[in-house]
Amino acid sequence: LPDAPVEALGEEDVARLVPRPRPDAQKYTRGVVGVRAGSTTYPGAALLAVAGANAGLAGMVRYVGSAADTVKQHHPEVVGAGRVQAWVVGPGGGDEAARHLAEALEDDVPLVVDADALQHVSGPLPQAVLTPHAGELAAMLGLERAEVEAAPLRHATAAAERFGCVVLLKGRHTVIAGPRVRVTTAGTAWLATAGAGDVLSGLIGSLLATGLSPYDAASVGSWLHGAAATLASGGGPITATGVARAIPAVVRNLAVRH
Ligand code: AMP
Ligand code: MG
Repeated sequence: LPDAPVEALGEEDVARLVPRPRPDAQKYTRGVVGVRAGSTTYPGAALLAVAGANAGLAGMVRYVGSAADTVKQHHPEVVGAGRVQAWVVGPGGGDEAARHLAEALEDDVPLVVDADALQHVSGPLPQAVLTPHAGELAAMLGLERAEVEAAPLRHATAAAERFGCVVLLKGRHTVIAGPRVRVTTAGTAWLATAGAGDVLSGLIGSLLATGLSPYDAASVGSWLHGAAATLASGGGPITATGVARAIPAVVRNLAVRH
């Protein structure tokens, strides 16, 4: 178990931490996030990671990968290769995920490592946020999924130590283990839907690009993602695309109250 008690993360904390543009902001100073995701087999995951990254929190989104044509059709704001302040790698990466990770690591910037890229993490990655679900974390640690599900705090904390970075373990409750430990609760099981995790990885990447620490970016991203799911759901079914679309309204509602 972690040495420190689990920290609370409430709406007021999120409102305080969420990045807002300064009056003299330019798109570049707000942060540029790059997404290396998708493959010829899984272009949809690239679209969803981009949708999370393109919720408006960073100033610009770049996409590099084999789904570029599809991404540009769906997200006209998104541009191609260039300098970024954070990378998102892994969703739908398939056979291309190892290359996505290696290329992102050539830049000395923080990054989100999700999905197919997780199995290529071996050594410490001090600037990373790893975003496994229980099955993916089990594979990384050589455990059974049920073992991780039985003790999520312990295994998330162990993984954060082993990989020297922030580990966000997804599930009904999400554990964020890093310098300290936080737990967020999505509030709706409707979020258990294909592509939901891809949206989360893009969203966290956009928060990293604005300059939030990996620990805060993971925590705030998880909170906003859960709140967007609750808002989009209203008690009914949701899609990952719908969750991404609801992110700006969640941030707006925070702004109204603070
Ligand atoms: P992934 O497995 O990568 O698609 O990610 C699934 C997303 O849905 C994560 O953000 C999980 O935290 C969330 N999620 C999955 N199952 C549940 C559940 N039963 N209740 C709330 N959130 C869930
Ligand atoms: Mg996933």
